[in-house]
Amino acid sequence: MVVASALVGAQCAMPISRLPQLPENEIDAERRIQQVAQMREYYGQLHRVDNVAFRIRTANIADCGEHVAAQIGLYATTPQSLPRRYRSYAREALGMTWSRPTVISVSDGSPAAQAGIVKGDEIISLNGELIAVTGTARWLRKWFARNGTKPVEAVIRRADEDQTVTVTPVMGCSIPINYVTAEEANAATDGEQIIIQSGMVELAKTDAQLASIIGHELAHANLGHIEKQQINTLIGFAGGVAIDGGFALGGISTGGAFRRELTKAGGRAYSVAFEREADYVGAYYIARAGYDLTGVEDLWRLMAMKNPSGIQLARTHPTSPVRFLQMRKVAAEIADKKARGEPLTPDLRFVQTEQPPSPSGELMR
Ligand SMILES: [Zn+2]
Repeated sequence: MVVASALVGAQCAMPISRLPQLPENEIDAERRIQQVAQMREYYGQLHRVDNVAFRIRTANIADCGEHVAAQIGLYATTPQSLPRRYRSYAREALGMTWSRPTVISVSDGSPAAQAGIVKGDEIISLNGELIAVTGTARWLRKWFARNGTKPVEAVIRRADEDQTVTVTPVMGCSIPINYVTAEEANAATDGEQIIIQSGMVELAKTDAQLASIIGHELAHANLGHIEKQQINTLIGFAGGVAIDGGFALGGISTGGAFRRELTKAGGRAYSVAFEREADYVGAYYIARAGYDLTGVEDLWRLMAMKNPSGIQLARTHPTSPVRFLQMRKVAAEIADKKARGEPLTPDLRFVQTEQPPSPSGELMR
């Protein structure tokens, strides 16, 4: 029996189907098709993010403090500016050349769009200065930040013909927004940059919904929630020390347990309130950018389908019903202010958390 079952086991490990032959060259050809498609998809989605971000950046300069810079709403790059694995098919996917930066994305209504620059143009020089072909996007960002809003003569090449156009940069919030391919519907900020995942962009059915995600993250960054969270953790820590100290005076050592719990609770209690505050202030950001807030709250019904546990309980964030309802009410508040001709200024007030804090990890979303 032992021998028989061992043989059966051995037979099971053998392939029993006659699988088709897959020649290496055919796999390579299909690999290239998928790589080209993925690259086009990535930059197509990035264009959508850039479009929405440009409107939010330029409509909310006053809230971004010193984190503002001159910009023209254009993304251009070269194969050698990209991660190595994209270089061999960048030409096939997006017509990039190694000798001059190619325009990949022009935001709607931006200075670059107004100057007539379109996707696929090559951009050669700015005020006679040749544009770097390595680290191109960063080079352009720095160049325009230095130039400010002074009009710029840009030489572009389209269908082998050079033409000079005048672009007048505008000021906008400068925090970098990085779009990454990742399935989970998530976005985050550490105050230095915003990261938005492809799962989140796909979930947002309308640009106004996508704007609400970017507005939320920008609000976190502008309101200093990262720093406040650290400060709150410190307040929790200090409170814990006092309680431990009190117990210690009574002759009982708590071994720092109170301090540890309060440290967690201090960060947590405020994080849920911060999330609601970022939703609230973010809604004003997108209203100022001209987005219609009607139906933006539906994003939270879509999120509930993707993340059912968040309907009932969310440890670091408000639940999806709370976020849905708040967005709907804030939309009404903003519509009311618009109707009265009042400025679109959020009413800064304390936001009550809807649940007691419980210890858990922290992720801004
Ligand atoms: Zn958040």
